[in-house]
Amino acid sequence: MNDIAHNLAQVREKISAAAARCGRDSEEVTLLAVSKTKPASAVEEAVAAGQTAFGENYVQEGVEKILHFREQGITSLQWHFIGPLQSNKSRLVAEHFDWCHTVDRLKIAVRLSEQRPADLPPLNVLIQINISDEQSKSGIALESLDALAADIAALPNVRLRGLMAIPAPEKEYDRQFAVARQMAVAFARLKADYPTVDTLSLGMSDDMEAAVAAGSTMVRIGTAIFGARDYTKK
Ligand SMILES: *Cc1c(COP(=O)(O)O)cnc(C)c1O
Repeated sequence: MNDIAHNLAQVREKISAAAARCGRDSEEVTLLAVSKTKPASAVEEAVAAGQTAFGENYVQEGVEKILHFREQGITSLQWHFIGPLQSNKSRLVAEHFDWCHTVDRLKIAVRLSEQRPADLPPLNVLIQINISDEQSKSGIALESLDALAADIAALPNVRLRGLMAIPAPEKEYDRQFAVARQMAVAFARLKADYPTVDTLSLGMSDDMEAAVAAGSTMVRIGTAIFGARDYTKK
């Protein structure tokens, strides 16, 4: 087994164990492999080990990988855009990705809906919540969720699937869990209002267990699968 296959098996095992500990079925938790900064060959290794859902942060890099696999006739992969999205890059996301996790304003959602090609199914979108109320601008406050969700749900070519958050890093499990619970409560409320909502994207390499215990349905794991990232080449 290569490193990536080995790491994937370990991460899947960790998710199963975390789910089992709180009485959840591990099938309820989707593993998104975050392949940002990693070459297509690393993604190929993960695909060979059975991984199908991949997350990318940079539009251009993600599109290159998507096209790499499409050109080989491999159409079974699911691509999730999870990075900050500027308006001028929305068309590439609408045309190539299956999901966008980082919608935090109506203007972006409208553009994604307008730019989604007619021959593709609606783009799956998550609303990003700034749950730790950080200065970093990404994500909306929970108070603004109802209004934005109603507007997005009315758009024809995007499908509101749920919520996403990147909590501020916390070392302690109890703190991680408390923040994740706030997200889970907001997710449950949204789900009650919209039948299309089924996804809570929460949990990374260092907090996935607390996220799963709190109710996450999709963990986004990079380092624990592909190893540390090298940003010096970017
Ligand atoms: C990079 C990234 C991840 C993966 O983080 P790791 O700590 O490497 O698991 C998950 N979510 C988002 C939004 C990211 O940017």
